[in-house]
Amino acid sequence: MFDVHAHLTDEVIYGDLDKVIKEAQTAGVKRFLIPAYSKNFWLRAKDIAEKYPAVYFAVGVHPLFVAEGDDPELRETLVKHPKCLAIGEVGLDYVPDDSQKPLQTAWLEREAAFAAKHDKPLVIHCRKAYCDLLEPLKEFGVPFVLHSCSCSREQVKPFLDLGAHVSFSGTLTRANAKKVLDLARYVPRDRVMLETDSPYIGTAKVRPPFVRPAQVMEVAESYSQATGLTLKEVENFTDKNAARFFVI
Ligand SMILES: [Zn+2]
Repeated sequence: MFDVHAHLTDEVIYGDLDKVIKEAQTAGVKRFLIPAYSKNFWLRAKDIAEKYPAVYFAVGVHPLFVAEGDDPELRETLVKHPKCLAIGEVGLDYVPDDSQKPLQTAWLEREAAFAAKHDKPLVIHCRKAYCDLLEPLKEFGVPFVLHSCSCSREQVKPFLDLGAHVSFSGTLTRANAKKVLDLARYVPRDRVMLETDSPYIGTAKVRPPFVRPAQVMEVAESYSQATGLTLKEVENFTDKNAARFFVI
C-alpha cells in the first residue's frame, strides 16, 4: 500500500520516525509521500526521503502557510531531486472565510506554473473553495490529485472531466461517512489513491494527532467494504495508480 499523503516532517511523527515507519511497514505500507507544506519543512522532507528508501516527497506552500513565504532558489534545487515527485501540498482554503482568496489564488497559479515548468503533478488541498479551484487547474493543464477529497458527485465531476485523481483519507472510515462513501463508489477506479494525512485526519479507530501511515490500511478496508472489492484488488490498483501518477 502507498500512503500518498503523510506528514512525516511534523514533530509528533518526526520525533519517533524509525518506529512509525517500521510499524507502517509491518502493517503493509510499502511507500510514503511527504507533501511538505511550508518552505520550513522542505529540507527535512528531502532528508527523510534520502534516509528511507520507501519515502518520497513533494515541495509546495499550503494556502494557510503563504505568510511564511517562498524560497525560489531552494525549490528550484529540490524539484530536481530524484525523490521529489510532485508540487504540494498547495491549493485554496476558505476556512473560516475567503478573505485570503486573491492571495491564495495568485499563489496557486504560481505553484501550477512551477509544476508545469518542471513537468510534475500537483497535490491539491481544498476546503470550501471548489468553486474557485477549477479555473486555475484548467488553465495550466497539470495532472493533479484532490487530497482527502470529500465533496459530492456533482462537485467532483468537472474535476474528473479534467483528469483529476482523488485520494481518500480517514474520513472514509467514520460512522457518518455517507457522503464520502458515495464519492468512493463514484470515482473511477483508475483515479483512486489512498492516504492518511497523518497526523491530522482521524479514522474511526484513531484520533488525531495519533494517526500514523499504518492507518492507511484502515482506509483501504473502508474503501474495500464500500466498493465490494477485495483488499488485495484495492491495494493493486491504488498502488498502480499512484506509481503512474507520480511517475515512479
Ligand atoms: Zn496534508
